[in-house]
Parts: sequence; structure tokens; C-alpha cells
Amino acid sequence: MSGQITQQAEPSALLPRQPEVDIGTSGHVDHGKTSVTRAITGVWASAHSEELKRGITIKVGYADAAFYKCPRTPAPACYSTSKTCPVCGAEGKLLRAVSFVDCPGHESLMTNMLAGAFLMDGALLVIAANEQVPKPQTREHLQALQMLGMKKIVIAQNKIDLVTNEEAEKNRRDIEKFVEKTVAASAPIVPISAQQKLNIDALIEALEEVVPTPARDPRADSLMYVVRSFDVNRPGSEVSDLSGGVLGGSLVRGEIRMGDDVELKPGMLDDRTGKYVPVVTKVTSLQTGAGRADGVSPGGLVAVGTSLDPAFTKGDQMVGSVIGKPGSLPPTWEHITLDLDLFETAVGSAELVKVDKVKLGENLRLNLGTSSSQAVVTSARGEVIEVDLKKPVAVEPGMRGAISRRIAERWRLIGSGVLK
Ligand code: GDP
Ligand code: MG
Repeated sequence: MSGQITQQAEPSALLPRQPEVDIGTSGHVDHGKTSVTRAITGVWASAHSEELKRGITIKVGYADAAFYKCPRTPAPACYSTSKTCPVCGAEGKLLRAVSFVDCPGHESLMTNMLAGAFLMDGALLVIAANEQVPKPQTREHLQALQMLGMKKIVIAQNKIDLVTNEEAEKNRRDIEKFVEKTVAASAPIVPISAQQKLNIDALIEALEEVVPTPARDPRADSLMYVVRSFDVNRPGSEVSDLSGGVLGGSLVRGEIRMGDDVELKPGMLDDRTGKYVPVVTKVTSLQTGAGRADGVSPGGLVAVGTSLDPAFTKGDQMVGSVIGKPGSLPPTWEHITLDLDLFETAVGSAELVKVDKVKLGENLRLNLGTSSSQAVVTSARGEVIEVDLKKPVAVEPGMRGAISRRIAERWRLIGSGVLK
């Protein structure tokens, strides 16, 4: 991948093949999501300084690793990300290549968390052992996972190097109590120190057990959700040297091959009509965590080079779009009807606020797939609402979206809705 797209340098270059499963991190800010990702993959996925240097906000980051199992060493020490067993030096068996989707934990980045959560096959919920349980974003992220139907969850009880055994035990009981009536009730809780790289083998073992690779149909019509988009050209390049726009995201089904035509939706805004029109473009390059490829399938971050004018893909403008086999993409919606499912209380800050009914004319934020749009309520009848979207989205009916409302100056998750 071009230097502008990925922060993963050395480890991914050694990746034996394209990742086949996406595991997302979630949890409160500073509890160690990025550190755990690094402890497993060797990659600092968020690359805060890099992102800040380039003046872009912190987005969903990907980092890849290959899981190996040594045939000789007993579990869990047999699990590692190294081909030669770190314990006995024997050659390990490649289990699979895994991609970690590192979601930002900060409350203002919930949109990115939701986009990441939508793409995950399994979740790693990181909870710091030296803090009260639960912190606001721990609660919010778990609620978001539950809402999106994520059932494959492993809990990493991180920073155990900072607490005594007794404190770790007490914290563990608090975690058990907190997740008791949630989708994470039976999730294994693995005590680790991301910083000291303690118990990472047991964490890999838990991920192997809890998060299987989903069944995929390579003949299905291709569909990819865009989470990043770029102009990879250096400023001042000659027009003849320009590369087309690059779209980064996760394929959820099918395959994309070099030279394929792909359609992009909602597409480009037609200034005269004010409507978005889908665009068909050619695939000119493909890249995964394992390097350049002739074809790509679901798993990990896929970068699709196109013949689109890079001005359209510059600066993440295409985030929230879909690409895939022409003619097979979901419809574009400007006005939608949702079956509501509201929480009793809004989560995401220390105090829990009762969720009031949705009102006519109210401004909400709707996250569908990897898109995020402001939505104005045009009809509110009990459990069914209609909204006008500021930015149209292309998604399939039946998809569940996350609904947020501004409460005390901040967007807070208040529930979800299923697109009718
Ligand atoms: P994130 O916001 O959840 O991604 O958290 P980070 O991975 O950025 O970590 C937040 C801070 O906690 C950093 O200063 C890390 O060095 C520190 N940290 C992360 N894991 C551990 C750990 O296991 N032990 C200790 N002592 N510090 C940790
Ligand atoms: Mg982080």
C-alpha cells in the first residue's frame, strides 16, 4: 500500500497472505486498544502523530498479523505471531492471517467506532484493570456491539502490571458483573499487559476459539464499504504521471480483480440537479496487508486503485460509500423509514440520561454501514420514523443503523433503527 494509506511497515510486509478475518478493538479511551493491537501485530495502528502531522482526524486503523501454533509447545505458549516458536524454536503451523481494526475510543469519534464495529467479525473489548468498571465508552462501545449484533467477543483485562493480584481479582469480578446481562456475558476475560507483552499468547488462543473466520462465497457479487479514500499523488505531479483515486475499505462479499469494472455509490454530486449519480470505474491496482494483488477477497483493509479523478477521493471524501459489481449495489436513499429500537438511557458519559421519544423536526445522526449522516425527522409515529438524510447513503433494506442525538452539546448513542 502507498505510504499515505497505511501505517503498517515491516510486520505486514511479512504477512504470508491476505487477512481472512477482521477483529475490532473497542473500549474506553486510554485503556490500551492501540497498545494491545501493537502487542499482537507489532504495528502502532493509530499512528496518532502521523495522522496529526498530516492534519487529518484519527480514523479507523488497520494492523495485520499471522497467527501460528507450535506443534510441540503446550498451550497457550504455542500461540504466537512468529513462524518459529518463541519457546522451542520449532516451525509453527500457520493458522490464519488476521486484521485488527483499531477503533478510536474517544467519545467524539463514535462515528468511526461504529464504522469499525460494522466491519468486525469479532470484537476485542479492552478494559483497564486499574480503573473503575465501567467507564463511559466501555459501556457505550459494548452497547454498540450488542446493538449491531456482535456476539463474538473476547475481553482483554489490560494493564495488569499496574495492579496487585487482589486488585486484579476485584476488577475481574466487576467486569463479570458489568457484562452479566449483556451480549458479552460468556466472553472469556484474559488478563494481559499490552505494554509488558504478558499473556498475549492466551489472548491469541481466546481469539482463535471465539472468533471463527466467516464462511465466504467468492462467487457472490462484490461489495466493499469504503472507510478511507485518498489522492496518492504528490503535489505538483505531471498530469501524465497522475494515479487515479484510491478507495480503502473492507470487502464484505465476493472478490474484486484487476481490470474489473466497479460501480461507486452514491457516487458524484451533479451540481445541476443536486443529486448523486453512481459512477463506474476500472480497477487499476489492488493492495492488501500482504502487498500487491491481482485479486482481493474479504478480510483486512483493501486498497482499490481506480481510474477516478483523484480529486474525488482526496481527503476521505468517499468514506461511507460502497463499491462493487456494477448493477448489483444497494439502492441510494435520501429519505428513509426506520423501525426504531431506542435505549432506555443514553450511554457515553458518566451520567445516564433517559431517552425521550423521537420528535418531528428533530435533528439526529444516523450511522449506516460506514456512513454517517445528519437526519431530520419528517414523521414520527410510535416505533416508526421517517427521516431526510443530508448525505444520501447506499445500503440494503433491513440494515440496522445507529441513532445518536445531541444531548448537552455532544452526540450520544440513543438506539438503533432498521431500514424498511
Ligand atoms: P487506547 O486509547 O485505548 O488506544 O490506549 P493506548 O493503547 O493508546 O494506551 C494508553 C496509555 O496506556 C499509553 O500511555 C500506553 O502506554 C498505556 N498502556 C497501554 N497498555 C498498558 C499496559 O498493559 N500497562 C501499562 N502500564 N500501561 C499501558
Ligand atoms: Mg487508540
